[in-house]
Amino acid sequence: MGRFHPHDGHAPHHHHPHGPDAHDHLHEVGDHSGYETGSLRVDVLQDILGENERTADANRADFATAGVRVVNVMSSPGAGKTTLLRKMLLRLGGTVRAGVVEGDIETAIDAELLAETGVPVALVNTSNGFGGECHLDATMVRSALPRLPLEDLDLVVIENVGNLVCPAEFDVGEHARLMVYAPTEGEDKPLKYPVMFRAADAVAINKIDLLPHLDVDLALFEENLRRVNPDVAVFHVSAKTSDGVDALAEWLTGSDQIAPST
Ligand code: MG
Repeated sequence: MGRFHPHDGHAPHHHHPHGPDAHDHLHEVGDHSGYETGSLRVDVLQDILGENERTADANRADFATAGVRVVNVMSSPGAGKTTLLRKMLLRLGGTVRAGVVEGDIETAIDAELLAETGVPVALVNTSNGFGGECHLDATMVRSALPRLPLEDLDLVVIENVGNLVCPAEFDVGEHARLMVYAPTEGEDKPLKYPVMFRAADAVAINKIDLLPHLDVDLALFEENLRRVNPDVAVFHVSAKTSDGVDALAEWLTGSDQIAPST
């Protein structure tokens, strides 16, 4: 890993338009008193997170100028982000002008799948100048923006790198965060990865078509989810059968939260 990870609890400060304290809990990332950390390390950390926050603010300002809503989509690898986004982008086509920032460590596989829907896609390979990182930060997203016609868009979807830890720690200037969860991941994940589940404004439980074949207790998962994030919106969806996709697509556009551009 080429860049620094803020895993000592100095999570970036967030400025979200939908609640001043929504992400203050990101500062509670555990007891790291076992580390012997010098003041130099703390200074470096604060510099890096300060830089991310400044760049996130610049992104936010550009999004506001263009009148575009931005949603950061996160999940573990294989939860179905790309397939779900494909379905939603196809549904929204014609009514919402969407674009994508695609985060991937190495390949263009997902970027090509999403470009097939007809929307502009700006790919960020984190192995290309960003140390192969397991997340997108504000600088990486900023590097993609000149490749999108922001002024002509209503919605930008950021597909983050598949990872249940790092992406939640970096504000990229987004308006909302969607986390995609697959029931095959088990009921305990909100308790084991609370930073990610707390950071989400909405959780899409994907692959519900698989439920008859699984032993997972979805009620227990949602109970665990509410323990770490009581106010989160929950959607039950299947990218395969399209169940619930319309409702999630409507949330994605923020029609009930942020006035769309005209
Ligand atoms: Mg993907």
